Amino acid sequence: MIHKKCVSLPRIIKTTWHHHEIIHNYFFQKQELEKHGCGICFGELLMKYGSYDCLKQDCNFVAHVDCAMEKYLATGQINDQDEESSENLASITCVIEMNQHGEATKIKHFSHEHDLTLDNKIKEDNDKRCDACMLSISTSFYYCSQCEFLLHKTCVELPRKKHHWFHESLFTLHVENTFQCGLCYHYCSGFAYHGNNTYKFCLRCVGISRIIPRQRHKHTLFFDFDLNKGQCNACGDYIHRGYKCKDCTFVLHVKCMALPQRARHKCDKHFLELTFHDENADLEEYYCDICEGQRDPNHWFYHCAICDNSAHPKCVFGKYPFLKKKIGETYKVWNHHHPLICVKKSYDICLRCGLPCQDIALECKSCNFTLHFDCLDLEDLVAF
Ligand SMILES: [Zn+2]
Ligand SMILES: [Zn+2]
Ligand SMILES: [Zn+2]
Ligand SMILES: [Zn+2]
Ligand SMILES: [Zn+2]
Ligand SMILES: [Zn+2]
Ligand SMILES: [Zn+2]
Ligand SMILES: [Zn+2]
Repeated sequence: MIHKKCVSLPRIIKTTWHHHEIIHNYFFQKQELEKHGCGICFGELLMKYGSYDCLKQDCNFVAHVDCAMEKYLATGQINDQDEESSENLASITCVIEMNQHGEATKIKHFSHEHDLTLDNKIKEDNDKRCDACMLSISTSFYYCSQCEFLLHKTCVELPRKKHHWFHESLFTLHVENTFQCGLCYHYCSGFAYHGNNTYKFCLRCVGISRIIPRQRHKHTLFFDFDLNKGQCNACGDYIHRGYKCKDCTFVLHVKCMALPQRARHKCDKHFLELTFHDENADLEEYYCDICEGQRDPNHWFYHCAICDNSAHPKCVFGKYPFLKKKIGETYKVWNHHHPLICVKKSYDICLRCGLPCQDIALECKSCNFTLHFDCLDLEDLVAF
């Protein structure tokens, strides 16, 4: 027997949950996938009911009909290629010059008023950051010859519009001054994808899948919109939305999922490696070599095996790793009526903690005070 409502189901749909088109079958066909469960809710799949299966032969995605229909985008054939390369969706608004390999060497980009030039000389430079994703530049990038503005080649080529599994609305790329990312909750500068006028996602988070096969945990993790319980297994902080294990009680913040495998900090001349468990079982207490505070050996930390330095991730990156901290940049805070300006200081005392500001700091020129970036409260900052 087949329900009336099932007869009228669209045959081929594209859902926000999966990057390929899926096709409706009245009976669950791919028997060998039974043990995988539904690719959306992870619940059991039963032979006698219908399902939506991925059209691609080598893809194992299968979903309950109700789960697929809950968040589908459109019926019929959608061509991904058309979607991503069509002219009005490109971030490069004009190619001015090309080299013999067909690479755009001089371009106009929607995010910047001046022309940008390609630089393929790859060098490790920790001080140069991409103005889109705020990460350091170590691969090909575009630069502005009239002002200080850099973009990774990969960030230049991002589509203006794209779909994201988080919400069925089309996400559009914008340039932001300061915003709070709806996935990692970091305050960020640079580019953001906006969805439904409500969500703003940073470029580091927007590429993370909803389902993460065994990488940083022994089982598959999937994003849960309403976790609302417990502590993150990586950092120990409260977690209300994030990744959850399909098979055990493991939960993880998006910001912890997004931690890079290697990082640098001035406390050590080598790269620090992200480590998931402290094997040093004979220690009674564990400390962070940056803040000298205690460390839970079951939480993730950064480690240099050569120098035996260990540190909290939050100490390695500081409180606002993705805010543009360029000299002359201004910031609005809700509890002060003047904007704060980013300056380089060598001795001024911080208004909050009383310690000297020895590097980049915030200053109010009108009231004559200085503040460490990290002494700014998260809530103080106003997105503008
Ligand atoms: Zn970038
Ligand atoms: Zn410029
Ligand atoms: Zn984010
Ligand atoms: Zn965490
Ligand atoms: Zn698990
Ligand atoms: Zn620490
Ligand atoms: Zn070292
Ligand atoms: Zn002031």
